[in-house]
Amino acid sequence: MKAAAKTNPPKFRIKKDDQVQVIAGKAKGEMGPVLRVDAERRRVYVKGLNLQQRHTKPRRAGEKGGIIPMEGPLHISNVLLYCSNCKRGVRTRLKVVQKRVKNRICVKCGETIS
Ligand SMILES: [Zn+2]
Repeated sequence: MKAAAKTNPPKFRIKKDDQVQVIAGKAKGEMGPVLRVDAERRRVYVKGLNLQQRHTKPRRAGEKGGIIPMEGPLHISNVLLYCSNCKRGVRTRLKVVQKRVKNRICVKCGETIS
């Protein structure tokens, strides 16, 4: 085991605004930008994917009630970071480029993703 992995709470290589591809479940093969990462529950919310119907009531004047589609959570293990070079979701590894600066690198082609 690597020393760094011992003490930290769950940490993921996926962050808000990352482009990801879903690799399992109903939305398999679809991609989108990450809206939110819930590290504790190990879930991510991806824009436009895994939509669920949310029923709402009007709360304020001018607001409409009704059924609004909202992004549902996807398990973090079911999404992969998208590599623009490979044109698909890929596994990544971290590469230290300078002291305290790490880039995520595509395992397949070596492309720097962030
Ligand atoms: Zn790649």
